[in-house]
Amino acid sequence: MALVNDNFLKLPGNYLFSDIAKKVNAFKVVHPEANLIRLGIGDVTRPLAPAVINALHSAVDEMGAEETFRGYGPEQGYRFLIDTIIKNDFEPRGVKLDPDEVFISDGAKSDTGNIGDILRHDNRVAVTDPVYPVYVDSNVMGVRAGDLQIDGRWSNIVYIPCTAENNFTPELPEKRVDMIYLCYPNNPTGTVLNKKQLKKWVDYALENEVLILFDAAYEAFIREEDVPHSIYEIKGAKQCAIEFRSFSKTAGFTGLRCGYTVVPKELMGRTPDGQKVSLNGLWNRRQCTKFNGTAYIIQKAAEAVYSPEGKAQVRATIDYYMENAKMIREGLEATGLQIFGGTNAPYIWLKTPQDVTSWKFFDRLLYECHVVGTPGVGFGPSGEGYFRLTAFGSRENTQEAIERIKNWKI
Ligand code: PLP
Repeated sequence: MALVNDNFLKLPGNYLFSDIAKKVNAFKVVHPEANLIRLGIGDVTRPLAPAVINALHSAVDEMGAEETFRGYGPEQGYRFLIDTIIKNDFEPRGVKLDPDEVFISDGAKSDTGNIGDILRHDNRVAVTDPVYPVYVDSNVMGVRAGDLQIDGRWSNIVYIPCTAENNFTPELPEKRVDMIYLCYPNNPTGTVLNKKQLKKWVDYALENEVLILFDAAYEAFIREEDVPHSIYEIKGAKQCAIEFRSFSKTAGFTGLRCGYTVVPKELMGRTPDGQKVSLNGLWNRRQCTKFNGTAYIIQKAAEAVYSPEGKAQVRATIDYYMENAKMIREGLEATGLQIFGGTNAPYIWLKTPQDVTSWKFFDRLLYECHVVGTPGVGFGPSGEGYFRLTAFGSRENTQEAIERIKNWKI
């Protein structure tokens, strides 16, 4: 019988959102009449932009005609999309990229999860804490995490706490690490790093030969001037960082699936005997073997995000969510709660009052306000005592949820 990768067995059985779903289902059995408002899961709710829909329709028509039908596309993505990305997402910010440094994919979850394929199992990994769970779980599968300890931490992972005490600014690790995941704007805390703060990380990575895995899935929500949209805005970052981007939150593609990853050609790793190897070449090899490209019609849809109409429509949707974020932030602040994030990100991170645990706060909010959020501890030990709300709901539901919380005796 085949032996399994028993690292999968080390993963805790219940995923955060299935625990939440169970609790919500139990609540619904007792209160079938309740008008439940969900500000928990990070999925979008607004429909796709008309420019995207038009592009999808015409791409579908192309697939139905003999002259324009397409089969397998390039594993790395079509040039029409890669060139559009470089021209719109990077050149205006002073970042020059070659087309073969950009890899189109079916989203940032796959790429942040799969990137470990090109990195050895004995690299030491650091994550900020709380953290998007995919980084940790994929390293458990990839044999880099060690064992789960009683305090909820994995023995071989270095956790860098990001809490109100340090203003959610991660300190450089004290221990030697080989790779670090940074996600800015951050899920779940909604906080950002400014240029100076991110430069500290780039300088540290260059000096210590550390690979930064920079997840910029929420880049489109940045509003403040001094916040970098791409890590490559920082000098030297091409020699130390891979960047992940996604159309999911930027343009409502959570159901269509498209993202991209930038692996600069000057970015090197090492073999155990010290020789330098291009990570771009390895990622290309990995993609060519295990990935057969994102669907043509989806890449045409992504291209339409950058058309003048597409840009305006997508911007209007992001503005809509950010107006929700403002409403949540201001509404909750008025109740005396301590609020973070929500200015450059669709996530609002709040400190639970009177130090109640994240799950206790979840239960009370569910049963007393009929509002669903996400317990901070689900994102890592340093998330205990915090709670996440998202701005991805409808305006009406967001407004109603905030009114309920305002009238709540917390
Ligand atoms: N990265 C972060 C930080 C996320 O929060 C998410 C989705 O919630 C993703 C990546 C996944 O993005 P995609 O839909 O492109 O797979």
